[in-house]
Amino acid sequence: MITMPTDAEPFLPFGLPSIGEEEIAAVVDCLRSGWLTTGPRVKRFEADFADYAGSRHAVALNSGTAALHLALEAIGVGPADEVLVPAMTFAATAEVVRYMGARPVLLDCDPDTMNLDADAMEAFLRDQCEPGERGALNRRTGARVEAVMPVHVGGLACDMARIMALANEYGVLVVEDVAHALPSRFQGRMLGTLGIAGAFSFYANKNITTGEGGMLVTDDGEIADRARIMSLHGISQDAWLRFTEQGAWYYEILAPGYKYNMTDIAAALGIVQLRRADDFWASRRRLARRYSGQLREVPEVQIPASGMDEDSHSWHLYVLRLNLEMLAIDRGRFISELKDRGIGTSVHYLPLHMHPYYRDTYGYCPEDLPNAAREYPRLITLPLYPLMADSDVDRVVTAVSDICHKFRN
Ligand SMILES: *Cc1c(COP(=O)(O)O)cnc(C)c1O
Repeated sequence: MITMPTDAEPFLPFGLPSIGEEEIAAVVDCLRSGWLTTGPRVKRFEADFADYAGSRHAVALNSGTAALHLALEAIGVGPADEVLVPAMTFAATAEVVRYMGARPVLLDCDPDTMNLDADAMEAFLRDQCEPGERGALNRRTGARVEAVMPVHVGGLACDMARIMALANEYGVLVVEDVAHALPSRFQGRMLGTLGIAGAFSFYANKNITTGEGGMLVTDDGEIADRARIMSLHGISQDAWLRFTEQGAWYYEILAPGYKYNMTDIAAALGIVQLRRADDFWASRRRLARRYSGQLREVPEVQIPASGMDEDSHSWHLYVLRLNLEMLAIDRGRFISELKDRGIGTSVHYLPLHMHPYYRDTYGYCPEDLPNAAREYPRLITLPLYPLMADSDVDRVVTAVSDICHKFRN
């Protein structure tokens, strides 16, 4: 018989979804029902989600990226436009601007929160834009600044009071990237419902998951209708109702749409996951508090900002920052030391303006967005998910402290 060494702790992965018997049963039920693609479970998931988020409409899609894309499409972003995007985000936030042919104007992050810096947004608008009815006019480029896409990084609410006030003053629409934010709030309102539209993601590592999936939320019926039509080849849904005398085979194409609809299999998962969202959130908050309570005693690291109140953070990510001047190793080595101790990590994010595509296409230098460039080499995201036990947090903290001690400058 082969015995494992008793002191070998199992690898603690960076992320793991919480999938229980109820999710498995719901998916099996869907498979047995004979209806796999968009159908009754999607309708139900949309209704449940709208109710949970406090939004009038919810459109279920096959990714969060699709939700961001359809939001920009529905508000009419076009090739002559500019959209303000924080550099500290995932690829999706800016690439959907490129899908519309528009230009993403990358903005710096607030060094405390890593979120879109309202000062940077204000400086851009005041220095080079005139307020307009539909979008601000950028005097330097002649483009219309149609929208701003705040990302609540890690799930921490952006300064929505200032972002909304500036956006309103200049005629810029706010499309929230809430991929990390379910279900954190700003002044009592669920993130994603403050702007004209919000895009949630149900990717495997997000706060609730459908494997792949997303949800567009909005109070604007025209945006919801347009997104629904464009999510399925631009086919008019009304045609099915209006022309029933022509038979169920009849449809009309109103625009060259996309193929972004969610399956009922995914929605079956989502319905159950959404019921568990508040429990997941409580676990994430508990684990994050435990991390911060211990890591604030370690001088070589900086703990993440936790927001104005308990509700401001979903704790999707726990982003630690290294005080590099106190350490003899860099972030890459720190990550491999954690891996040697059986702990998975990630980095959120290499700022967009430092990626080859955005750097080369728009001619950015790292120093153009100094906060993002300065903070990037310090970032390490630690494991944080509801399946973790308190003892897993303690183990990560012990490993971090041990590495800091061993490699102290
Ligand atoms: C995950 C993510 C998305 C995209 O979501 P998908 O469902 O993977 O398409 C968008 N923005 C951010 C910040 C994300 O983390």
